[in-house]
Amino acid sequence: MNAYDDALDAARAYLLEGAPGRLPALISQAVWDLHNGPSPVETEEDDPNPETRWPGFSAACDELRELLDDLPGSVYVDADSGCVTESRPECWACPECDGDGCNDCNHVGSFELETYYELTSARALGGAELAAYIS
Ligand SMILES: [Zn+2]
Repeated sequence: MNAYDDALDAARAYLLEGAPGRLPALISQAVWDLHNGPSPVETEEDDPNPETRWPGFSAACDELRELLDDLPGSVYVDADSGCVTESRPECWACPECDGDGCNDCNHVGSFELETYYELTSARALGGAELAAYIS
């Protein structure tokens, strides 16, 4: 594991927390299909549950694009803390004084950004290969 993988994990966890129910299953099926597929399209007989039924790769990608519309396009992850935000952070509030200013932050109340990652939601959820199809 390196800092980038940790950032991807943090972003994925953040996005899945608010994601619609079908998204995680669809992502993992699509990734599987991409590497091992194609899997045949399932009918109601194969899988009576519409939440998990496999619609085929291209239909799955269409559906994933729609689901991703409801998520932020990108998230930002602080490499040190793993904090995830949906807008480009200006700086991180000083955890010691909560922005009031103290010796730790040189009385500024915040720290400059050092290392953070900007990750698209498609990349964080699906990995680079699937992201090419769904973003
Ligand atoms: Zn401070």
